[in-house]
Formats: sequence, structure tokens, C-alpha cells
Amino acid sequence: VGLVVGIDGDDTLWHNEKVFSVVEERFRELLQPLVPAGTDLHAELTETERANLPILGYGVKAFTLSMIETAVRVAASPVPAAVLAELVAEGKRMHSLPVELLTAVEVTLPVIADRWRVVLITKGDLLHQEAKVARSGLLHAIHDVQVVSEKDPDTYRRVLDRAGVDPADFVMVGDSLRSDIVPVLAIGGRGIHVPGFRVWELDQADRHPEPAERWCQVPSFADVPGALERFDCIR
Ligand SMILES: [Mg+2]
Repeated sequence: VGLVVGIDGDDTLWHNEKVFSVVEERFRELLQPLVPAGTDLHAELTETERANLPILGYGVKAFTLSMIETAVRVAASPVPAAVLAELVAEGKRMHSLPVELLTAVEVTLPVIADRWRVVLITKGDLLHQEAKVARSGLLHAIHDVQVVSEKDPDTYRRVLDRAGVDPADFVMVGDSLRSDIVPVLAIGGRGIHVPGFRVWELDQADRHPEPAERWCQVPSFADVPGALERFDCIR
């Protein structure tokens, strides 16, 4: 049995944070005239998202509800229905945007899938993530897709158990140290960190992943096969 390669979707295979940052900018434009001077709309929205995370989880639907909740909470007067309608429309629009692949993914993922078993492990709304996988045009280079609600050690253990994969044979590739690397090291797997456009502040690691010899960082997705080969020979 060779290595099994877990690969993250958002900001590892395709752009995601970029989409959120554009919509958040629109949110701030819409709300600015309605809130008291000095209101930090980004901080207020992040605060709402943080509080909602355990209830609503990750993804666009949670983000849309958090925008509406923040608007209603911080506005000095009732929020016009037209503003709320536009926030809802922005959220819906996010679901149907084309999937924009990151550099080198289209060429490199098939190279990886030719040699190792590839499991896409992504968190967020089930329907939206499935649609993004389908729209990405990458299905031919993915052996299995797992949409999970949280990326913690228990989740990874469950996914690997079901697939009959020993964590020692598992390498996770992703842009988030907190979600893709730290929990995988915790169950005895390995990690390849490919830094993305930015990491959402609620998805940042509060500590450096340990042990250091079981993960590495590469500058681009194009470097992942080389890093996997190195892991392949030290198994
Ligand atoms: Mg990601």
C-alpha cells in the first residue's frame, strides 16, 4: 500500500478567500452609511462569525447569516429591506460563481493521482462543496471526496478508519496549518503546507505544528509531488 494523499479544496485547489473578501467589501460599503462613526465592520462581522461557528459551521450560508445578523446588530437605525435583500443575493451569488483553480493545480493534481490515492477533504456546506468539486473539472484526478463539518483529529481519524488507511501512510496537503496540518500530525500522519492567498483569521493556527520532521512547507502546488516523493521514501 502506497501513500494516501488528502488534499484540501478551498485555497489549496481553488480560490475561496478572495471571493469572501470581495463580498465582505460590498457588505462594508452597504453598511457604512448605516452604522455609528468609528464602527469596525470587519471586526464586528468576524465577532459574529466566531460566535456562530459552533452553531452554523463553515461556508457561505453561515457567512450570509452572519452578515445579516451583524447588519441588524450594529446599524443605528432599522436596516432597509433592500440592504438585507442585497446581502442575501450576494450570498446566493457566491454559490454559483465559477471555480477558479490556483496556479499549477490543473497540471499537477493528475500527476499526483497517477501515483498515489487522492482524497479531497474539504469543510463547508455540503451542496456547495460538491458543486465546486464538480465545477472544478478535477474529478478525474480525485479518487474520493469527503465533505466534513470540522477538521479536527477525530474527523481525520474517522475518515481514515472508514477508508482503512493507517495514519502513518497518510499525508495531508493544504493551505491551513490549523485545519490541514496540526490535526493530522496529532493522529500520526504527515503534512505538506502550501500557503495560499490568505488564511481566514478564524482558521489560523495558534501554535507551530509538531513534530517538525513530519511536515514541510512548499511554495507552490507544483512542488507537492516532489515533497510526496520525499515522504514516500522515508515511510
Ligand atoms: Mg483551505
